[in-house]
Amino acid sequence: MTALNGEDEVVELCRDLIRIDSTNAGDNAGPGERAAAEYVAEKLAEVGLEPQILESDDRRANVVARIAGEDSSRDALLLHGHLDVVPFNAADWTHHPLSGEIADDCVWGRGAVDMKDMDAMILAVVRQRLSQGRRPPRDVVLAFTADEEAGGAYGAQWLSDKHPELFEGCTEAIGEVGGFSVSIDEARRLYLIETAEKGIAWMRLTAHGRAGHGSMLNSENAVTELAEAVGRIGRYEWPVRLTQTVRTFLTEVSGALELELDPDDAEATVAKLGPLARMIGATLRNTANPTMLAGGYKANVIPQTATAHVDGRFLPGYEDEFFETIDELLGPNVTREFVYHDIAIETGFDGPLVRAMADALAAEDPGALAVPYTLSGGTDLKAFSRLGMRGFGFAPLRLPADLDFSGMFHGVDERVPVDSLRFGVRVLDRFLDGC
Ligand SMILES: [Zn+2]
Repeated sequence: MTALNGEDEVVELCRDLIRIDSTNAGDNAGPGERAAAEYVAEKLAEVGLEPQILESDDRRANVVARIAGEDSSRDALLLHGHLDVVPFNAADWTHHPLSGEIADDCVWGRGAVDMKDMDAMILAVVRQRLSQGRRPPRDVVLAFTADEEAGGAYGAQWLSDKHPELFEGCTEAIGEVGGFSVSIDEARRLYLIETAEKGIAWMRLTAHGRAGHGSMLNSENAVTELAEAVGRIGRYEWPVRLTQTVRTFLTEVSGALELELDPDDAEATVAKLGPLARMIGATLRNTANPTMLAGGYKANVIPQTATAHVDGRFLPGYEDEFFETIDELLGPNVTREFVYHDIAIETGFDGPLVRAMADALAAEDPGALAVPYTLSGGTDLKAFSRLGMRGFGFAPLRLPADLDFSGMFHGVDERVPVDSLRFGVRVLDRFLDGC
């Protein structure tokens, strides 16, 4: 086999993946991931792997492959990336979101950031290593999943429910939304490695009252009950709760930026972080935002019920407190049910795998400071964590200081610098040496 160069390949792999439409509109709508999965499987088969394509439903395809390491008696490592992307409105974009255009030294398109960039980096580094006969020190399982953008029922959740045997021996997982740089100054960059994710509680609230004529006295008006409950939830000031991850993040960053850290006033410290404040601010506390309201059908009819939706997010370790507070705020006449509910997760920023990530970054960027952070949303990692894996968001990219990277997730004009992709391949290659 001729030796392949991952740095040369990664850009074309990323462009190819972007050109394959795998938009996921939710509710099992869209073209599905089948075409992207076939592309990935072919690229893996070319270097001697035996990838399996697993369909959870028509064209909802996942790809899983196992690389035998030098020491298969060690625990295995999972590298995972999702193949679906969120929908787009092409008219809003400078370059068509399915073009994979290269302009201004960036690859443009839906998925360039979330997360066909990382899919391409995994493919490139695996193809490079295997074509050179360089096996990882332990078994590495690769999973390219469907449906992450709609919660993973056809992807990671389905895989871990129906095919846990494919992940046998995996104790650690590396996936998305982490590992990218945020510049401190010319010489130093933070690399945010995701070690925790908030839990998700999308709830439908229903107020139950007594229906009747709008001209009569009515002390059990469902609309009034609902409006008051929604108001209480929306205005509630959730207390700051410093999780281990946030504490470590603040300590490291305060040191690097020479900021005064007052543990009793974490908000003041976070406010000094500039663009990072938006990302980190939401990880200081539970949140619950009312998002939808419905009730009634005629101006002079008091309805029997009225409903609202609330998007709740709770910190690892604070789920009980979250629901106790919500139930108090709801009051006696409003009930709640889940539209979607998923766990919060957290792991420590320690151990050999964390060192391998930090060392690989430092070798390629002497100004790198790796720090842990909590993602305010969720990824496939929640599903894989149910199989007993601790996980990290580590898709390494050294980014230009002025690029608003976190703002491009699901945004317009998603693009990733060509140099960042090449950097990512070099870091992942070193990481796999040390994993
Ligand atoms: Zn993603």
